[in-house]
Amino acid sequence: MYEAFFDHHVHSRFSWDSDSSLEELVAASRRVGVGGFVLTDHVEFDPLDPGFGEYDYDSARAAWDEIQSLTPDLKIRFGAELSHQQRRLPEIREFLHARRYHWVIGAVHHVGREEISNYVARVEGEGIPLEECLGGYFKACLQGVESNLYDCLGHLDFPKRYSRRGPDLTGEFWLRHYGKEIRSALSACLDFGVFLEVNTGSYRVGFNEPYPGWAILDLYHRLGGSEVVLSSDAHRPEDVGTAYGAVIRELVRRGLSVRNGVA
Ligand SMILES: [Zn+2]
Ligand SMILES: [Zn+2]
Repeated sequence: MYEAFFDHHVHSRFSWDSDSSLEELVAASRRVGVGGFVLTDHVEFDPLDPGFGEYDYDSARAAWDEIQSLTPDLKIRFGAELSHQQRRLPEIREFLHARRYHWVIGAVHHVGREEISNYVARVEGEGIPLEECLGGYFKACLQGVESNLYDCLGHLDFPKRYSRRGPDLTGEFWLRHYGKEIRSALSACLDFGVFLEVNTGSYRVGFNEPYPGWAILDLYHRLGGSEVVLSSDAHRPEDVGTAYGAVIRELVRRGLSVRNGVA
């Protein structure tokens, strides 16, 4: 069905928050009909993060090596999703320097040192509107791209996932309040040749648009972006390829083509 396309963002048991075995992911990928997937387990650098110290590169790499040799019909590539924090830049650089990946996603999961789900719950509990307190989030996305360490910028408007306002937080909403910051992050992607991820995980939690929302993707197109990479951010086997059909159709309708970032 989607043989031409990869799922560029898939978690497995090598992530602290997923139990999927590689065999289950292979079966799910065949079922949904993607041409392949990239294993992108979480790597955390902040000791306060629940996933800190949980990632084992050597074990993940060995498991990938074994599974890809057993599945010649499916392209499986080895990657990681790194939590970008500007204060952790030296550790992140050192980590990547010493390891080999086909595909590295830089994603922001914190505001300051506070993990994003906790942060959003706290500020909303204190009555602080999201319109006013996520400048730091989008700035970190820009810094992640500018670090030039990543192949791809992950789930750009991710804070919407944790808000009680849910699908009201459309791409238009983010552009209305953080247009300057988002435009800078998108322009940096184009300048540095960093892929922009269209992440469909949002469809599993009640949204009708990906991360980032359509208005942001339209802005990316107006800025000169013509290609994006597609991913599901699967944490369970059945999540692989979430909403691919509908999202590919809508991307094409908006003049964006879906690229594979790995060969
Ligand atoms: Zn993420
Ligand atoms: Zn992820």
